[in-house]
Amino acid sequence: MSKIALAIHGGCGVMPKQDLSEAEWAAARVDLHRSLQAGWAILNAGGTALDAVEAAVVVMEDSPHFNAGHGAALNTDSEHELDASIMDGRTLEAGAVTLVKRIRNPVKAARRVMEKGDAVLLGGAAADEFAKVEGLDIVAPAYFTTERRVEALAAMKAHAAAGTAAKASESEKHGTVGAVALDAAGHLAAATSTGGYNNKPSGRIGDTPIPGAGTYARDGICAVSGTGKGEYFIRYAVGHEVASRVRYLKESVDQSATSVIMEELKPHDIGAGLVAVGADGSVSAPYNTDGMFRGWVEDDGKFFVATHEDVFVLSDRD
Ligand code: ASP
Repeated sequence: MSKIALAIHGGCGVMPKQDLSEAEWAAARVDLHRSLQAGWAILNAGGTALDAVEAAVVVMEDSPHFNAGHGAALNTDSEHELDASIMDGRTLEAGAVTLVKRIRNPVKAARRVMEKGDAVLLGGAAADEFAKVEGLDIVAPAYFTTERRVEALAAMKAHAAAGTAAKASESEKHGTVGAVALDAAGHLAAATSTGGYNNKPSGRIGDTPIPGAGTYARDGICAVSGTGKGEYFIRYAVGHEVASRVRYLKESVDQSATSVIMEELKPHDIGAGLVAVGADGSVSAPYNTDGMFRGWVEDDGKFFVATHEDVFVLSDRD
């Protein structure tokens, strides 16, 4: 029996610490903790990494604190176009949806796409329809909208008009949620879900639904879920790149993940982060922004959640 491991992120687009009340940070941490509990309960009971990452991501999609599902970013037309993917490290099967507007939990639709096996990536109205036929929860687009995202869209439009978009804060720009896990049978899985970035062009597709970019899992190597400016994650094939460095250069998961975020991506002056778990259960969570919503569970069942540098230790029962 292999050791089990779980790590999650709620995006590297967090506010500078002084801009949000302690109560709001605490509320985000509660949902990170709930996400860990959902995934860990499955792994602890001998369930699969695939089920664990899906369950962990669903909790964050349902939370208003993260840019995925309820609370997702708005595009330039004030619409939500959601992306999600899931990947099974055991078989390298993957499923993804992009530009969906009505699926309450896009990660569940990604899983169904993978299981159907006809396509890896389904997009737009056809993906919404697929989810409906599959019996998943369908919601009105307004379900995804929160006050904070409306404000972020207005702020990004103002930046765009003033030519200062590059100076916008990371939280005004983007966010994503994701999970990676290793199960007791030694299998790895990853899942990621996002609203993309605020004020993104209509029809823009990021890295999140692209296996090998925002999401990647391969047994014996590692599982990766990314957050940050998706165009760079696609161009650098970040998920696959982290796995390749582990596989061919024999780097540790932490060395590999840290080099990709801090050396390859940082010079582009874009926010970027990821969580990764190795075949040995080691966890890495590098980011180059002020903070990254994140959490992980250690062997002894201790839960760790963090937004900025401070890390909070909890237990399964807190
Ligand atoms: N990676 C996401 C995207 O580009 C956004 C983010 O993680 O901040 O769609």
